[in-house]
Amino acid sequence: MTAVFEVDLAALGSNLRRIREEVAPAEHLLVVKDDAYGHGLARIVQAARAEGITWFGTFDVATALEVRRVAGAEARVLAWTVYHGDDIDAALSAGLDLGLGTRELIAQVSRRAAERGLTARVHLKIDTGLRRNGILPEEWPQAVQEARSAQERGMLRIAGVWSHIAEASDEEDDRAREAFLVAAAALDAPGALRHLAASAASFARPEFRFDLVRIGAFAYGIRPAGGPGDEELGIRPIGTLLAPVTAVGADRVTLGVGSLDGLDSRLAGRLEVVTEAGPRRVLSITQTETAVEVWDGAAAGQEIPVLGERAVLTATDAAEILGTVGEEVVLRFSPRLPRRYVAGGQAPGRSS
Ligand SMILES: *Cc1c(COP(=O)(O)O)cnc(C)c1O
Repeated sequence: MTAVFEVDLAALGSNLRRIREEVAPAEHLLVVKDDAYGHGLARIVQAARAEGITWFGTFDVATALEVRRVAGAEARVLAWTVYHGDDIDAALSAGLDLGLGTRELIAQVSRRAAERGLTARVHLKIDTGLRRNGILPEEWPQAVQEARSAQERGMLRIAGVWSHIAEASDEEDDRAREAFLVAAAALDAPGALRHLAASAASFARPEFRFDLVRIGAFAYGIRPAGGPGDEELGIRPIGTLLAPVTAVGADRVTLGVGSLDGLDSRLAGRLEVVTEAGPRRVLSITQTETAVEVWDGAAAGQEIPVLGERAVLTATDAAEILGTVGEEVVLRFSPRLPRRYVAGGQAPGRSS
């Protein structure tokens, strides 16, 4: 028996419905970068399609192609970082939406689309302050002109205008929003979707929602560190790290999970696990094992919730202890940990 990362697709569905209720009439583009934040791309995309999600977003074209394969031809799939010519050709053939953050890319995508007799669907990215791969405001008018001209010649269609914000301070985000509005007005492309917000701003700041919100973290039930709680947001984690009991001693029980599986050893002494006899404190975490206070009825083979939906602490709770964010805690879970998919979490503490 090995540790597993269990993913509750019913909890995903409930988070997706909660997001829809919050952001409507804006649409939810589900962000599935980093293997759907470590939860496993294919199963997440399938489940989200069944919940009526039609927009997906990733960094890279390779992942977006995988989403296209799983989600089918009707889904809209945005890859927001394009690097290579080969990427562009593959993206055009698969009918992906492409995020473009430089004039050079606008030119390159237009040229390749023309060569293939296709029309590229593109989302122009304005840099609103993050200085991370976007068209600078001083270059925007030129970029708009070039994109319009390519659109008139049928090489591309301007499907969106977008930017990314830090969501660290309201003031900074407000300035970014102003710059975004100026750029969107200058673009003046009817039908182009405007999108700016990720999880936090989508919920906290309705004026940031526009037509589409790009939400990852909240869909997976990962709340912001130091921010509003799960209950206030109406979301819950969809993942649980489970570990098997491998040995029962006089004063401690050993679980088969360790730092090599992605469980941070600094959580020793700070973390409790769920047992049938109630919570028990984690005493130490080595590379391969975790020692826990003993309980009556402990037996080898029992499966113990360590972190996440069915556990005492969520990923973000752990992140707050470690001084990081919940995404980081989940992304550290080893890709070698098997993912197991269930619909509806079992009662906490029950072994299976
Ligand atoms: C990761 C990412 C998002 C989603 O952010 P969350 O906080 O996880 O919702 C949205 N847009 C871009 C460009 C991203 O890189």
